[in-house]
Amino acid sequence: MSEVLLDVQGLKKYFPTKRGLLHAVDDVTFTIEKGKTLGVVGESGCGKSTTGRAILRLLEPTGGSVLFEGEDVAKLNPSQLRHKRKEMQIIFQDPFSSLNPRKTVSQTIEEPLQLHHVIEDKTERMQKVLEVMETVGLAERYVNTYPHELDGGRRQRIGIARALALDPKFIVCDEPVSALDVSIQAQILNLMNDIQESHGLTYMFITHDLSVVNHFSDDIAVMYLGKLIEKAPSEVLFSNPVHPYTQALLSAIPIPKVGGPKKERILLKGEITSPINPKPVCRFANRCAYATDRCRSEEPQLKEIETGHFVSCFLTD
Ligand code: SF4
Repeated sequence: MSEVLLDVQGLKKYFPTKRGLLHAVDDVTFTIEKGKTLGVVGESGCGKSTTGRAILRLLEPTGGSVLFEGEDVAKLNPSQLRHKRKEMQIIFQDPFSSLNPRKTVSQTIEEPLQLHHVIEDKTERMQKVLEVMETVGLAERYVNTYPHELDGGRRQRIGIARALALDPKFIVCDEPVSALDVSIQAQILNLMNDIQESHGLTYMFITHDLSVVNHFSDDIAVMYLGKLIEKAPSEVLFSNPVHPYTQALLSAIPIPKVGGPKKERILLKGEITSPINPKPVCRFANRCAYATDRCRSEEPQLKEIETGHFVSCFLTD
């Protein structure tokens, strides 16, 4: 039976602003099983990256719990958290800005090993660096090069190598290919896929591009304005999207099907609701073609409509 690695319950992250509290992540609940990938998709500003950072406590959650192998990450003290960080890593979107321009490839990959006192011996540490470089397909000759001397794909390989150096169990992949050329994207996705299989890793894969997660994820969670509005196994989400927002997102990606019906793109109109002090109503109501008075006076809750398929919309009642 599959085992849950990450259990996120009611996660909240609010930011104080001059106009009130910005609900960036609001009561988000999901689980990820060991060795699986959860794709998290949504427009920019929907809270997907903040969710990833709150799980790792790179941002302190406002509320909720994050159980990692049954242990609540939100309750760890600083030294326990430092220890746990070895098992929970992140790959950032823009490899150029996330890498220190003054550090060589080997110094960059070596740094987390030094910070966490994992390998104290310099020669052994270097051996580990070379091993991880090989895993991510970075030739040994790049060991003393600087990030600006490499192309985007190789820079992202350094980011992946750095995340892998500590032998983590879980990686938050925060838009890891969106800053790369299309031709390089597939290479990096394939590499991440291979590494997941060989290392038994669990991924949370954040992206605004549903077509990227389609190839990659076991389950997909869709977020809208801080809320998780639909979650399902990938093939179910693609074949039977239920939430009107998910349907609109899917209509925007071209899936060529020989002889299949022509897909019509659903264009979203209407003003986006403010995430500052939001009212307890459906946050998608202003843009939803099916909105009723109920949607503007009550907040839909996430409900399981079939095994593993969760939706937050009154249309499912
Ligand atoms: Fe649309 Fe209402 Fe469903 Fe919200 S709850 S998505 S407004 S139908």
